[in-house]
Amino acid sequence: MLPFSVTILGSSSALPTLTRFPTSQVVNLNEKYYLVDCGEGAQIQLRKFGFKLSKISHIFISHLHGDHIFGLPGLISSMTLAGKKGELHIYAPSELKMMMDPLLKFMNESDADLSIIYHPLNFRKRALIYEDARLTIDSFPLKHRIPCCGFLFKEKPHELNLRVDQIKFYSVPVKDRVAIKGGANFVLPDGRVIPNADLTFPAEPVRAYAFCSDTLPRKQILPIIEGVDLLYHEATFCDDLKELALKTFHSTAKQAAEIATQARVKRLIIGHFSSRYKNEDPLVNEASALFSNTLAANEGCRFDL
Ligand SMILES: [Zn+2]
Ligand SMILES: [Zn+2]
Repeated sequence: MLPFSVTILGSSSALPTLTRFPTSQVVNLNEKYYLVDCGEGAQIQLRKFGFKLSKISHIFISHLHGDHIFGLPGLISSMTLAGKKGELHIYAPSELKMMMDPLLKFMNESDADLSIIYHPLNFRKRALIYEDARLTIDSFPLKHRIPCCGFLFKEKPHELNLRVDQIKFYSVPVKDRVAIKGGANFVLPDGRVIPNADLTFPAEPVRAYAFCSDTLPRKQILPIIEGVDLLYHEATFCDDLKELALKTFHSTAKQAAEIATQARVKRLIIGHFSSRYKNEDPLVNEASALFSNTLAANEGCRFDL
């Protein structure tokens, strides 16, 4: 299977701390990088954890709170200083362009060879926002103080695996093998049809990752994130502060675990911790009590799917 991972660059909530950067992470599918949110200092973390800025061409911004976007001007400035050319695609609320355009103009970055293409997010319903040969990315609405989207990264179905013994036995020509990997039957020269199931083993399972931050716990997302291999769900507070979580449109660790349980995901990582917590133990303990396969999204952690 191709390497598919998520690396946490930052997992603090509104206030950065001495040990935590604000939200940002890299989804890496076979050395193709997708940056999710870009909190202050994201470019430092990218360098620290070995991601070349030149390889980032797709950035996904959940919402326009500062702890998710203040890293963008610095990152783009460094990209242009380093001579990055071509296109940089940013999937974000449409107002981001209104903020970035004058800023980049003021910084004299707008004349650079890097062309920034903005793709506005849809906050009313789930939408396919990106697709390539291996992956689709959907956005879906969350429930926060301002419009906010989560993202679902899902591999495209893999090809079936050929059964070498059967391929040899029926002398299947090379030119027919691509179609068989795609599910086709094989017709012998005498007209007999060999069913695909006799010629192939099942394909590798499709893997999926869902990013949900910032948000109240939201039942409407359950069918979208159902059964994902890895769920990142914000857990800003412990449940004793659930009133504060409700008031600020955030989730508690217990609520994140409830979402993970109800969506039957395989693994949960929690983050976006309030700076009031000196370490993540109370949050992870609270979530683990309900959903045992929970880990903290600490800086530098890489989660393989
Ligand atoms: Zn936030
Ligand atoms: Zn927010």
